[in-house]
Amino acid sequence: MPQPGWKSISLPEEMVEEIARIIRERPELGYKSVSSFVIAAIRRLIEETKPTLEHFNVYEDHVTIIDHKRRRLVNVYFRNGRIYCELCQEAECPHTEYALNIPKIQEALREKGWIIKEGKVIRKPF
Ligand SMILES: [Zn+2]
Repeated sequence: MPQPGWKSISLPEEMVEEIARIIRERPELGYKSVSSFVIAAIRRLIEETKPTLEHFNVYEDHVTIIDHKRRRLVNVYFRNGRIYCELCQEAECPHTEYALNIPKIQEALREKGWIIKEGKVIRKPF
C-alpha cells in the first residue's frame, strides 16, 4: 500500500532495474530512489506537454500572449493596418500566427476590415 496522499503505479521490471542501475552508477545525479527518478522524469514530460503559447489579454491595439517556453509575456500589435510582434520584431512569427488564430482577435480585426485565414493576414484594411 502506498503512503497516504500517494498512488502506486506499475512499471515494467526491466525499467525499474535500469533506473536502479543509473542511480547506483551515477550518484552525482542526486536521485535517492527509483521513485524520485520517475517523479523527476514525469515532471519534465508534464512541462513539455504544456501549451507553448497562451492567450493572456486583449487590448484596443494589441494582444498579450504568454510564451511558456521563453517564460515571458509577448505583445503583438495591430496598428495602422500592420501586425507586429515586439519580441521577434516581425510581422510573421509564431506569436503573430497564434494571435491571428484567437477568435476574439479575428472578430475585432474583421470588424476593422482585415481578412485573416489560417493564421495569416490575407488582406489588410485600406
Ligand atoms: Zn514573435
